[in-house]
Order: sequence, then structure tokens, then C-alpha cells
Amino acid sequence: MRIDSHMHTPLCGHAFGEPIEYARMAAEREINLITITCHIPMRWEAFGQAGIRMSLEQLDDYLVLVRDTAEQAKPLGVEVLCGIEAEVYPDEAELEPMDEILAAFDFDFVLGSLHAQCRSYIDWLAKNKVKKDAMKIDSYFRHLKDGAESGRYDSMSHPDVIRTYGVVNHFNPAEHEEVIRDFLQAVVDEDICMEVNTSGLTKGDYEVHPDPLILDWASEMGVKLTIGSDSHHPHSVGQFFDVIQPKLRDKGFTDLHYFRGRQRQVIPMPGGS
Ligand SMILES: [Zn+2]
Ligand SMILES: [Zn+2]
Repeated sequence: MRIDSHMHTPLCGHAFGEPIEYARMAAEREINLITITCHIPMRWEAFGQAGIRMSLEQLDDYLVLVRDTAEQAKPLGVEVLCGIEAEVYPDEAELEPMDEILAAFDFDFVLGSLHAQCRSYIDWLAKNKVKKDAMKIDSYFRHLKDGAESGRYDSMSHPDVIRTYGVVNHFNPAEHEEVIRDFLQAVVDEDICMEVNTSGLTKGDYEVHPDPLILDWASEMGVKLTIGSDSHHPHSVGQFFDVIQPKLRDKGFTDLHYFRGRQRQVIPMPGGS
């Protein structure tokens, strides 16, 4: 069995192609289960760019879209689950509207993402006088740890994405080992998952999220993994999985996980093609 647990729909305003096209690509690439994880609605001002998230009013459409896709994808031999990519943010009050959504809708899977490039996070760093890169990186992983401990999320996604969008300069995770291991320990203690996200290989410093060194620590500490292509276009479904999954196996990860009805499911780590 092969899975891809992170992909988007045009509802977010920055992804392309209908979900059924993603399902067709999955079938072509012998992936039998995909989880669509569109971005959860958030205030445009918080992101700093208009039209980059679906609106609250579109959530019902989203659920219908995924349900219809699931029906259409059955003959292709692809199961389609309905997830959501939720936000991690330091200010709990900011997360209240999101918590209402998570309580009101039955998602199969909830990703937790700290998009460090968000206007609201940049503002938070400035307001709290977090100026140097080293401090920003430590703050970021502390917030991910808090997110892991919040009970909101099933898997913490692209866990070192702060390195990608110019928020900080290139850094060596070894210089932040303690705070990163604290985050990983929280994932283990809370019995949730961390995502391996292959979209990192297409941008920034062209490396998987999280960095291979972080994956070594995660393996040693017993972190459970989900995997996602973070596709914003059908052609990215399952991108680089054939390269990454054997590497994960070499690192000692024998299993992969996905979620149905918020319940963790386990499969053997797939090999190459
Ligand atoms: Zn996106
Ligand atoms: Zn994301």
C-alpha cells in the first residue's frame, strides 16, 4: 500500500487542478490512498496576502468536493480521505475561530503547520523582540512543541519550513538540537505523528522537510511518521516518494501512518517503485 497525506484544492486560491486529477495521478503512480488537506480558513490579514485561504463559507463546499471526489476515485482504486491543514500559532486567542471549525467538521486528519512566513508570525516575532535568526529558529520549534502538546493536530507538518521562505538564513539543525529534540519528544509523548514533506525538495534549499539530520533524531526517538507531497498541482502527487521512502527505511523507519476518522492507521514503509 502507498499513501500521500497532504495535498490541496483550488479552493485555497493558490493550488491548481481539480481533486479528481490528483486522484488520477495517484492511480497512475500506484498510490492507493490520498488525503486531501486544504488549508483551514484564516484571516487574510493574518497571512498578509489576500485570497490565499478558502473562506469560512467555502468549508461546506470543500467537504462536498472531497466526498464527490472519493466517489469518483473509487473505480480508480484510490481511496480519498478528507483532512485539513490547520495552523499553529503562539497566541491561543488567535486560534479560537480555528478551533470552532475543528470542532464543527468531521475531518479524517488534521495537520498542524506553523507557516513562519505569515504576517502574523513575523509580527509576533517583532513584538516579542525575537530578532536574531538563532532566536527565531528556537522560538519556531518551541511553538511547534506547544502545538504538538495542544491535542489539536494528528501530525505536525513540514516541521522545519521556517528555513524555506526567507524568514531566517540557512541554518544547521545541529546548532538547535536541544529545542528540536524537545519538539520531537513532545510528538512521541503525545503519541501523534510528524510529517515527512517532500515539497521541500522543490524549493528553498532543496531538501526534504524535516532535514535528514532531524529525521535521524526522530528515528532514534521513536517518532511516528506521516508522508505528504504537499501538492498544489496534480503532477506533484507522490513527488520524490520513491527516493525518500527507501531513505526513511534506511534510517530505521519501518512504518508509515495515515488517519481515518482521526484514528491512526499503520502500513509498512513502502519501498521504491
Ligand atoms: Zn498552500
Ligand atoms: Zn503548509
